[in-house]
Amino acid sequence: MPEIRLQDVTKIYPFVKVSGLFDRKQKTEMLKKQQSMPYLSNEGVIAVQHIDLTVRDGEFVVILGPSGAGKSTLLRIISGLERPTLGTVLFDGKDFTDVRAEDRDVSMVFQNYSLYPNQTVYQNIAFPLEVKHTPREEIEKEVYALADLLGMRPILNRYPKELSGGEKQRTSLARALIRRPSVLLLDEPFSNLDILLRRQLRKELKRIHEAYKTTFIYVTHYQTDALTLADRIVVLKDGIIQMDDTAANVYNFPASRFVADFMGTPVFNFADRIPVSKDGSFSVWGNDLKLDPGQLRKLNGDLTVDAGIRGTNIAVSGQGVPAEVTYVEQIEADLYIHLLLGGEELVAVEKIVSNDALRYYRGQKVFLTFDTDRIHLFDGAGNRI
Ligand code: ADP
Ligand code: MG
Repeated sequence: MPEIRLQDVTKIYPFVKVSGLFDRKQKTEMLKKQQSMPYLSNEGVIAVQHIDLTVRDGEFVVILGPSGAGKSTLLRIISGLERPTLGTVLFDGKDFTDVRAEDRDVSMVFQNYSLYPNQTVYQNIAFPLEVKHTPREEIEKEVYALADLLGMRPILNRYPKELSGGEKQRTSLARALIRRPSVLLLDEPFSNLDILLRRQLRKELKRIHEAYKTTFIYVTHYQTDALTLADRIVVLKDGIIQMDDTAANVYNFPASRFVADFMGTPVFNFADRIPVSKDGSFSVWGNDLKLDPGQLRKLNGDLTVDAGIRGTNIAVSGQGVPAEVTYVEQIEADLYIHLLLGGEELVAVEKIVSNDALRYYRGQKVFLTFDTDRIHLFDGAGNRI
């Protein structure tokens, strides 16, 4: 079972030769994107850059980021489908950069399940073992074991066109696992499924991970997928790692404003460019606070900070900073209380308790207390200080 290590990995997709108006527009877009990225010039689209990442044996790592962040590119580099432009891929300390995909003991599951339409679910799952000429009884044993784990026994004789989205994805998952690969790569596997099904499949995936002890690397743009599945979350944006830490730390101590915003359920409030005096004191949302000397140094003479606080760290109570309720909305089990505080908009989040959800009303005068330990501070570049 390997430890996977990416060392200073960069992938540049060369520009395609372009002509005509439409393509020129595309090319301008690409150039614009490229110019927004540091370090590199006019060779092509920089999908990921300077990636240092180690995935330990048996870990469940989630790579989280918006569309275009370079998530699929990273997975394809790990699987061997793509060669990095620069940098090294190590499996257990050995240089695997030029080892072909089929020699890596890695399986992959995609968002769009590519099942063989003329084969039953059983045959689809069994296929990787058939190719290896595994004895029939052994194949049967493995297929049934996976079918039981995924609750698929009743559908083994169906054809792909007779399956729901969830069943198709379970079939792909079983087919990827039957070879018992030492690494399973999952590229947004549940994105096409509805929310209830996603929740259920997440639970099953977690169970499979515990049963098989395989290394899982799971790519998604959903915060919830990442928080519920991951031992560790790697947040990616513009091909650069923004944060690499435990799920709890990514949620509670976001390393940058971008990460805070991306982990914004329940909602994050921000106050920008707050002036800080030379001794480090500043005031935000009616709270007088002070930077410690270390934080002050990190500002590098730029005497402003951005502040962020999650709505759940603001309590509406009988004392504190006065504010006015503008409106109230119910989101799942949470009550979002929209407020106006000295001209600034703010959202406090409370759990809904019994049926007194309507204790707040528009125009109501209330008082707020802030969990000041949970006011996150960022410098001008958006980095946590
Ligand atoms: P994600 O999976 O996070 O959405 P990708 O890894 O697919 O991101 O893409 C990262 C960037 O690389 C995007 O700007 C995308 O347009 C570009 N890209 C991806 N694949 C190719 C390719 N084969 N040729 C050119 N550009 C590509
Ligand atoms: Mg992708």
